[in-house]
Amino acid sequence: MIPIRTVYDVLIVGAGAMGMSSGHHLARRGLRTLLIDAFDPPHDQGSHHGDTRLIRHAYDGAAAYVSLALRADALWRELEEAAGTLLLHRTGVLNLAPEDSGQLRTKAARSAEFGLSAERLSAREIEARWPGFRPPQNFVGLYEPEAGYLSSERAVSAFRSQAVAHGAAILPYTRVESLQVADGRVSARTNNGTFHAEAVILSAGAWFKTLEPFISLPIRPVRKTVGWFEADASFYGDDRFPGFTYRGPEGEYYGFPSIAGSGLKIGRHDTGAAWNPGEALAPFGGLPEDEADLRRALDAFLPRASGRLLHSAVCKYEVTPDEDFIIDRHPAYANVLLAGGFSGHGFKFASVVGEILADLAATGASERDISPFSLQRFRRERIS
Ligand SMILES: Cc1cc2nc3c(=O)[nH]c(=O)nc-3n(C[C@H](O)[C@H](O)[C@H](O)COP(=O)(O)OP(=O)(O)OC[C@H]3O[C@@H](n4cnc5c(N)ncnc54)[C@H](O)[C@@H]3O)c2cc1C
Repeated sequence: MIPIRTVYDVLIVGAGAMGMSSGHHLARRGLRTLLIDAFDPPHDQGSHHGDTRLIRHAYDGAAAYVSLALRADALWRELEEAAGTLLLHRTGVLNLAPEDSGQLRTKAARSAEFGLSAERLSAREIEARWPGFRPPQNFVGLYEPEAGYLSSERAVSAFRSQAVAHGAAILPYTRVESLQVADGRVSARTNNGTFHAEAVILSAGAWFKTLEPFISLPIRPVRKTVGWFEADASFYGDDRFPGFTYRGPEGEYYGFPSIAGSGLKIGRHDTGAAWNPGEALAPFGGLPEDEADLRRALDAFLPRASGRLLHSAVCKYEVTPDEDFIIDRHPAYANVLLAGGFSGHGFKFASVVGEILADLAATGASERDISPFSLQRFRRERIS
């Protein structure tokens, strides 16, 4: 156990997916780093639990996402090697949408532009290849064979063990209650003492509101649900069935094959009840639509997976108005770095987001294009 001091080069407030990755990158560079977390990551109170997260490369948003996804992919492989654990499982990912979907067209164009493997398939071809899918006949799929899923808690644990191995200190069960910058130095007051550093990374996930008034960001925390449904392994086993996304009249969904008999996992990306830090989070089934919402999707395009609900979880998204991330500096303090608003699609990027934040903290610059994630885009909203 590394002893806790009061002065560091860099403090990290929130050691979840983004914070723990940043701690790992900073410690590797020899910076004295303290990771502070309200829980003991990985944990099931934030946005990184539930076993799996999709990793895909063909994004339809800013082109920067594709370059970042490719860099993230390389860094996940480095982490696997360093930690001696398997994190990235290339099951492929099938993106399903109506044939006139602009989103799929953009993803296909991006794939061509960046030289990604991607295959466009008709509904009939999809059913022939994976009889577990039954898409509506006017749907098409874009299949990314190099995509797949990440083991999310295992990835946070791997960042943590690597950060500690390189000398980072971790303070679990410690809540940052307020922050202050004086004479260019940052101080974080917690329920466990006050800590000081030359720079701080704020990666508080769904809890950014608790850091107000020091920083106020346009982030809306949302309750999300996922379910694992009994599914025949001969159709849905992870040796034969891909991860998937679906955008149709029922809503936007994503899911995973049945991993070692765990059941087919499915979640809904759009919608979700508002949640605020400090409020109790209703368990799965606490809202009447929880299970029905997921079954609607199973009935629409995965009818053979509509078995018993084996397991369920609730989790949180932290959503920005445009669902793009916030990776920037505090408007008033250059040594306060912000990483938030990952809007339900950030995990795959955690490996590269940590690298970017470590670069910004250590050298003041990053070679990655993070301009789409600047706070400037909200300048008509109040940011303090
Ligand atoms: C159901 C679900 C499915 C998802 N699916 C995907 C997917 O398929 N692919 C994908 O790429 N992404 C996906 N995501 C999104 C991804 O998981 C998140 O974007 C990512 O985990 C966000 O990481 P974070 O570090 O911002 O938040 P977290 O990992 O939640 O970390 C924030 C940390 O900050 C700590 N904290 C907060 N406030 C304080 C404080 N004041 N003091 C001390 N500590 C504090 C918390 O305890 C927490 O550990 C999904 C998310 C959910 C919920």
